[in-house]
Amino acid sequence: MSEYIPDSWRKAVAKRASYRCEYCRRPEADSFIKFHIDHIISLKHGGATVLDNLAFSCSICNGNKGSDVGTVLQNEEVFVRFFHPRKHNWFEHFEVLEGVIYPKSEIAEATIKVLELNHLNRILERLDLIAAGLFP
Ligand SMILES: [Zn+2]
Repeated sequence: MSEYIPDSWRKAVAKRASYRCEYCRRPEADSFIKFHIDHIISLKHGGATVLDNLAFSCSICNGNKGSDVGTVLQNEEVFVRFFHPRKHNWFEHFEVLEGVIYPKSEIAEATIKVLELNHLNRILERLDLIAAGLFP
């Protein structure tokens, strides 16, 4: 997770993401904690430090994701990779109803599960953002 990333790259990744977490879509402006630069495919799993493998991520999503690249669903029978911000369109995989993020795919289901996108505190925060017109 920790490899030097030039400041110009950090800025480029943040701008490309419109300054929102690419997993939960929370805006960085709403957070007291500076967002992280995530290796979508972690270094541990052979991912490289190149712009196409970097995502803008809030500290909660980044912390929950860690070096994982996916999880098992359906009683541990099927391995499913996480949402890949460079390869997948967020709105094709997720939908938001009353603050809760619902999966439209197994990829989304895996991502919601491990990144805890629907932890109660995160839903409450999202409802505030929606009320303020800042989400999604
Ligand atoms: Zn996030």
